[in-house]
Amino acid sequence: MTTPLVEIDGDEMTRILWQQIKEKLLLPFVDLKTDYYDLGLPNRIATDDRVTVEAGEAAARLGVAVKCATITPNKKRMEEYPALKRLFPSPNATIRSILGGTIFRTPIPVDFVEPAVRSWQKPITIARHAFGDIYKASEFATTEPGECTLTFRGESGEEKTVTVQKVTGPAVWLGQFNLDDSIRNFARACFRYALDSRQDLWFSAKDTISKTYDGRFRTIFEEEYEACRPEFERLGLRFFYTLIDDAVARVMRSSGGFIWACKNYDGDVMSDMISSAFSSLAMMTSVLVTPDGKYEFEAAHGTVTRHYYRYLKGEKTSTNPVAMIFAWSGALKKRGELDALPELVSFGEALEQACRSTLNSGKMTGDLAAMAKPGFSVTVLNSEEFLDAIAKDLAGILSK
Ligand code: NAP
Ligand code: MG
Repeated sequence: MTTPLVEIDGDEMTRILWQQIKEKLLLPFVDLKTDYYDLGLPNRIATDDRVTVEAGEAAARLGVAVKCATITPNKKRMEEYPALKRLFPSPNATIRSILGGTIFRTPIPVDFVEPAVRSWQKPITIARHAFGDIYKASEFATTEPGECTLTFRGESGEEKTVTVQKVTGPAVWLGQFNLDDSIRNFARACFRYALDSRQDLWFSAKDTISKTYDGRFRTIFEEEYEACRPEFERLGLRFFYTLIDDAVARVMRSSGGFIWACKNYDGDVMSDMISSAFSSLAMMTSVLVTPDGKYEFEAAHGTVTRHYYRYLKGEKTSTNPVAMIFAWSGALKKRGELDALPELVSFGEALEQACRSTLNSGKMTGDLAAMAKPGFSVTVLNSEEFLDAIAKDLAGILSK
């Protein structure tokens, strides 16, 4: 490797697996060079969360990062970690605020799990615009008859006011917004990722009802598409806009293999539907892509706290490491691509192939065994045995 990969370590069960993945699947095979940041909660506490900012800055500087799941502190965690004096924001939010960008979530399909939707043959990637709308809205409730207005006061002194509604009884109200810049960056990241991964891009909204708000999303996507239309056409890819309800119907009849860009709420809902319909969160990868081509790879799941408590009691858990391994392989492939290191790209591919061949031979963790097609013969392994089985397949693939 030439440029180091930004390595962001994390918490609990995924921190344990992180070490094992490195020991068993990476260090024996790759000259691994990383710029390491320990975002385990004890070190975030020790550095008053500065390490998270440093990790984000390193990712912005070096361009490719791989991240382990991390605890987002809440009240309960303060009892568990008495040294935790304030609730740090979620590391993902801190890193995203430094990098910007859009998160793409893709299920890792396996032959022995049938997607809940029979027509799906290839994964569907969801891109969620993780900014604004109801997630940054202001809302209140009122109890008496009256009128609600919405006012924008420009710095120039100009004002714009509309009546939202006059009501005769108790009511609830919500004001939401989005920013042209944020929508444009979202669109750019989507087009970039579609070109990168050679997939069609769908975008959906509801501009027949919300002509100005959703209409703006549509217009910005269409404007950004014009900039990359030649590249799309050259690669035989398609961008297509449709209404959210039509998109849902088409997704259900599709064979998959495309990126579906969603507004914030739609993406929140649809990504849970897509992951559970393909298999589970433990088989979902997540990559943050910025409009200027920076990447952060991770598994979509959390730190798997319940398994960690069992691990602390000495139990060997059967926690699924596949999405974490794919985060590493994704990051290594991207680093290899950017630094023109074809061996690194091939290694990333071999690692993914080793996961697939191990799984397809019936060796897997408990969560997947529960989802296998009837009749498929399964051997449930604990995480360590499963990683050893993958390492064996990987050594075989690499020696060919
Ligand atoms: P979680 O860690 O995703 O786990 C929820 C449940 O899903 C687990 O108890 C387990 O079910 C199953 N599961 C998830 N990943 C699995 C895997 N790899 N293998 C097997 N089963 C798996 O979510 P959580 O328990 O809600 O959150 C735990 C911590 O993670 C929280 O502190 C949260 O802040 C953090 N979190 C971090 C990120 C991130 O860094 N990206 C994302 C989400 C959550 P069973 O127990 O039934 O086996
Ligand atoms: Mg959700």
